[in-house]
This record gives sequence, C-alpha cells and structure tokens, in this order.
Amino acid sequence: MSEISADIAVIGGGASGLAAAIAAKSVNRGLRVIIAERLPRTGKKLLSTGNGRCNLGNRELSPENYHGTVDAMGYISRAPRAEELFRSLGVLTVCDSAGRLYPHSGSAATVLSALRMRAEELGAEERCGAEITGILPQKGRYALDTAAGDRILCTRVIIAAGAYADPKSGTDGRMLGILRKMGYKTAECTPAVAPLRTSPELLKGLKGVRAKCRISAAAGGKTLRTETGELQFTEQMLSGICVFDLAYLWGKYGTGLTVSADLVPELERDELERYLEQVCAMHSRQPVSELLTGLFRRELAAYIIKRAADKPLSAEIRSLKRQELSAAARYCKDLRFPVTGAAGWQNAQSTFGGVVQSEVGDDLQSKRHRGLYLCGEILDTVGDCGGYNLQWAWTSGTIAGREAAVFKKK
Ligand SMILES: Cc1cc2nc3c(=O)[nH]c(=O)nc-3n(C[C@H](O)[C@H](O)[C@H](O)COP(=O)(O)OP(=O)(O)OC[C@H]3O[C@@H](n4cnc5c(N)ncnc54)[C@H](O)[C@@H]3O)c2cc1C
Repeated sequence: MSEISADIAVIGGGASGLAAAIAAKSVNRGLRVIIAERLPRTGKKLLSTGNGRCNLGNRELSPENYHGTVDAMGYISRAPRAEELFRSLGVLTVCDSAGRLYPHSGSAATVLSALRMRAEELGAEERCGAEITGILPQKGRYALDTAAGDRILCTRVIIAAGAYADPKSGTDGRMLGILRKMGYKTAECTPAVAPLRTSPELLKGLKGVRAKCRISAAAGGKTLRTETGELQFTEQMLSGICVFDLAYLWGKYGTGLTVSADLVPELERDELERYLEQVCAMHSRQPVSELLTGLFRRELAAYIIKRAADKPLSAEIRSLKRQELSAAARYCKDLRFPVTGAAGWQNAQSTFGGVVQSEVGDDLQSKRHRGLYLCGEILDTVGDCGGYNLQWAWTSGTIAGREAAVFKKK
C-alpha cells in the first residue's frame, strides 16, 4: 500500500474533473493537484459525445434547458461559457443553426487532447486505474482509499465522478452510494437524454420508421412539454432527439406519463379530415392502404389505417365509414403511447437526479464537509440535448476547481 499527499484530489477524470483540475492549477500553480481516474485513461466518455464530434456547448442557454433542484443557470452565469473556455485552451469552435457548438476539427478527440494538454502543462497529475472506494474525512483533511489499497491524503477533494449514465465510461453510480452513506441527500436517479419505452404491442409494424412530427409529453391531463423533431421507432422504444429531451419527465411522473405525436402539425384536425375526404372522393376504388399515401411512407400509413379501421388493407377506400376516417385523422394528429420506462443506463446520455442543491453552496462546496466540492453529473441537474450537459460539466468543474484552489482552513 502506498500513500501520496496532495493539496487537491479530483475524483474522476471526465469532463468536469479535467475542467476542475485546470481551473485549480490556473488559480495557483503551486498546488499539487491529482486527478484520480478509475479507467486506464481519462476522458473516455468525451470521445463518444456528439457522435464523436462533441457538442461541447450551446450559444442559447436558459433555465428551461436544465431540470433538477440545482440552479444550473445561476452557476453558469458565474463562469466562462464553453466557447470562451475552449478558445482559452486553443480550440476554435463552430456553431450550427440551433446554436450547438462543436470543435472546428469536427472531432471530440480535439476537445479531450486540449483539456489533457492544458492539465499537463499546468502540472496537474493524472493517476489512472485509481478507483476511489472510500472518502474518510479526517481532521482538516481527507483520506481517499483506492480499490488497489493505496491512499491519497489531501486537504481538498473535488468529486467529479459522474453518475449512472453510460456505465462503460466508468460511471456506475457507486460514488453516489458512497456519498449517501456519508449522509448526502440525493434525488432519485433515472436515465435522461435517453429513449423511452412503451408497450411493444403498440410498436408492432413501426420498427425502423422515422417521422418528422411535433411530440408532446403529458401527465394527469396536462401537457408538460412539446418538442419538434424526428421521432424514431424501435421494437420497444421511442427514440430521436425530440424524445431524449422528454426522458427526464419519466423520473418525475413515472407511469402517468404519455407521449403523443402529431404527425401532421401543419394542418388542424378539421383541415386534415377535409383533406382525407377529398382523398376518399378522388381515389374511392383504390385499396385502403393508399389512403395516407400523400402523407406518409408506406409502413406508417399502414400502421395508422390498421389502428383506425377494422378492415383489410386491400378493401376499397369507399368502404371506409365516416368514423373510421375521423379515427384516422385523430391518430395522425394524436398518436399516443403510454410510457412504461426509460431506456437502460447503457443507452442514456445523462442522469436525472443526484446530489440536491441544498447540499452545496454557491461555490459548490459541500455544506456537510468543508473542503469537499462536487461538480458535473453527480449533482441534481440535467440539461437538454444540444451541448447543455457538457456546458454544465465545464461550468461546475471550473467553479469547483477555482474555489477549491482558494479554500482556506478555518
Ligand atoms: C454517448 C454519449 C454522448 C453524449 N454527447 C453529449 C454531447 O454531445 N453534448 C453534451 O453536452 N453532453 C453529451 N453527453 C453527456 C456528457 O458526456 C456528460 O454530461 C458529461 O460527460 C458529464 O461529465 P462528468 O464530469 O460529470 O462525468 P463523466 O464525464 O462521466 O466523468 C466521470 C469520470 O469519473 C470516473 N470515475 C467514476 N467513479 C470513479 C471513482 N470511484 N474513482 C475514480 N474515478 C471515477 C469515470 O471513470 C469517468 O471518467 C453524452 C453522453 C454520452 C454517454
């Protein structure tokens, strides 16, 4: 067993941990800062962000983009935005029409290299393969035990260990378990930025279908949120960015949640009915399977007709009853799916829940343990798809690192 001493130990070498180490060393180069990372390399998750392009931030940030008890925007207003931070690290960014920021190179590897290079230049030390399994607050310092039996002694500790999402990147929620045992209050964790599950029966015939639509989530008769985008169907799940942005609501509302797709948002329901009547008049002797040919691809058209009308697809359009036509219009405008769950952690990009706001101050220091800071996904806030989660990681890591660097023992 070996014992090493440091001023600051950062637990977790992901997005927020690397930002924290850089911020701490930028404030005071004289501090010994160690990044303890359980995996063989730091930043594994970063490499898969944004489909390998890393959507590292967004120009349009507002409180509506964050969900949970932590006031993410309050913290974000007190630290450099992603564009500015990465410019200071030598990375040029580009912005798309939705405000999403990416590295100019189009490669997430650029983002990770820039962070690692700066951390190294400033003298932060990476200890990979060092999983922290215990945090022992001692008089005026912390003893961190590793799975290999080593110990890190430090006066400040920054917990940047992520939460549950994407466990193959080193984040399996165990650090939250350690914090709970230390008395920390956490909000229940559910997968966020993830596909949603519904009854496989309702998805029969839709596997592989994609449809541009307006999608709403509702519970208790109240519409909670509406998004526009491409809805994708799998055998068991509803997917696509518009669904990812609704997934945190599963954690809030559970089985009371339903998702409804308006597949023809351009027309009001009565306009759509009139359109269908015209189609009926024009193509009365064609098979029913052709009723929605002017609106949708074949699989989606067949699915809606099967739900709306009790007849074979080969029957003639003129055999459709008025209420069947009306039902077809209803399904086009309000195709409902009761939500039965969210995708597993392995398919989630983030976590809804975590350590609640009341546990930390404006400086992200714990209110229970002086000199202990928390940042990133382990805190109870989750952002929408579009660079909001990485912005939170950079912001919270920067604040935690900066504040830990100026921390004074009483
Ligand atoms: C596939 C995918 C794509 C994504 N794309 C985007 C995107 O384009 N834009 C966006 O904004 N967000 C994206 N996200 C979300 C974003 O990656 C996370 O919000 C962000 O990485 C969280 O940062 P973090 O520092 O809190 O945790 P992480 O980046 O997860 O880092 C935590 C680190 O801590 C280490 N660790 C855990 N426990 C211990 C321990 N006990 N001891 C030592 N080390 C430990 C882990 O190995 C890990 O390296 C994506 C996520 C995924 C999974």
